[in-house]
Amino acid sequence: MQFDNDYRMLIGGALVGAAKSLDVLSPATEQVIASVPDSGEAELQAAVDAARKAFPGWAATPIAERKAMLNALGDAIMANADGFMRLLTAEQGKPHHEAQGEIMGAGFWLKAATALDLPETVNEDSDERISITRHVPLGVVGAIAPWNFPMILAMFKVAPGLLAGNTMVLKPSPFTPLCTLKFAELAKEILPAGVLNVITGGDHLGPLMTAHPGFDKISFTGSTQTGRRVMASAAPTLKRVTLELGGNDPAIVMPDVDVEKIAEQLFWAAFSNNGQICIATKRMYIHKDIYEPLRDAIVAYAKTVKVGDGAQQGTQIGPINNRPQYERVLDLIRDAKDNGYTFLMGGEKSDVPGYFVPITILDNPPEDSRIVQEEQFGPVLPLIRFDDIDEVVARANASDYGLGASIWSADEEKAYELAQRIQSGTVWVNETQHLSPLAAFGGMKQSGMGVEGGVEGLLEYTAAQTLVRRKKPAFKG
Ligand code: NAD
Repeated sequence: MQFDNDYRMLIGGALVGAAKSLDVLSPATEQVIASVPDSGEAELQAAVDAARKAFPGWAATPIAERKAMLNALGDAIMANADGFMRLLTAEQGKPHHEAQGEIMGAGFWLKAATALDLPETVNEDSDERISITRHVPLGVVGAIAPWNFPMILAMFKVAPGLLAGNTMVLKPSPFTPLCTLKFAELAKEILPAGVLNVITGGDHLGPLMTAHPGFDKISFTGSTQTGRRVMASAAPTLKRVTLELGGNDPAIVMPDVDVEKIAEQLFWAAFSNNGQICIATKRMYIHKDIYEPLRDAIVAYAKTVKVGDGAQQGTQIGPINNRPQYERVLDLIRDAKDNGYTFLMGGEKSDVPGYFVPITILDNPPEDSRIVQEEQFGPVLPLIRFDDIDEVVARANASDYGLGASIWSADEEKAYELAQRIQSGTVWVNETQHLSPLAAFGGMKQSGMGVEGGVEGLLEYTAAQTLVRRKKPAFKG
């Protein structure tokens, strides 16, 4: 595939433009790197019509054939991994090695999800009747993806949505539409026309989608704040929603860990992708017996990490993806400064162009500080001292968020018991951020509604239909 600078949308099997266009900036330089179509109501309507038209044929296509096409799509992404990697770094900011991981992960996700099948339950099989429940596709699904992992998080939706027999309209974030539009070119060659439509546009387009009566479901990944709006706007037409929202993941580090060995792993739990991960560690609770040595080991490691342009060799952390998020992170740093909290490193604004924020680590800020209570979604980590297990569990759970959490201990059994006391959709022991297309992933409380991944995630793209048939004649005649 050509990774040229021509970006068009995929509607009804054709690559098309729009009357208006939208600039995409490099987060590393703040320069315009490309323009993409800026859709309005007309383009959205065309995409919904194309998806609606394609639905009966796709729903009737045997699941084995749908799986074969998803496998081919996954292979096509992987075969073009190098071009996608460079483009992802250019639009998102992440270093090449992380971009490579995301692209290969996106291909893998499409392929691995084909191991899933739609279950059928026999509810009754008696002399009188047979009753079964099967799962049928919903119709047209609108998928709205965020900017932190534009490719893989789109595949979290495309894989189960299409596998279940729905047709789709996918919208990437206005900050990161480029890889998704190149992915659309691959989809054009593999999928029947209208099965997957990809449209791009500015901030007006998401609300137009969620309010549009032509969608049967909206699958949204983004902030909790926007998730509330999505749900409200889906209500008038009772669209189904899956909401994958924000998190404020705690890590709890027990006193029996090997401080020197674990410091690097804990650092990356918080700072991978520049902290812009819904399931990044966002507050790190460290037992008082190891607080000082572990704090110092994390800071010593952090000082070796190179922040810079993701396209340059050796860069380990890139810029923040976009200006609004950059401002949010700087505001949290400012608040910590204004309140006199102790900075172990960072806290300064970078003077170079681009949305660069130096790695920032805070020493034991108060539990009620904004940096502990809010989702930072950037390279700022509060280290927090704790004394007592029950107390730290209570602090970990005292949040409106409940996405992920991790427990770190040499005693895996005890850690596993502790994990079960945490109110989060996923809890890891001695690792973090491991997700699988075969496992349900979602948020408790205001971190979301519904799940992606696993049979549970696949079923969210279906409606249960119970079919009942008598075995004996109903009427004597
Ligand atoms: P965002 O909420 O600003 O935007 C997400 C998407 O929604 C974008 O495509 C945007 O254009 C669109 N949008 C904006 N307003 C809309 C509206 N009113 N109606 C419909 N769509 C609208 O989120 P973001 O800043 O792109 O992403 C960061 C957030 O996403 C963080 O809070 C992070 O934790 C969360 N996130 C969650 C997961 C998860 O799986 N739970 C994964 C990644 C990111």
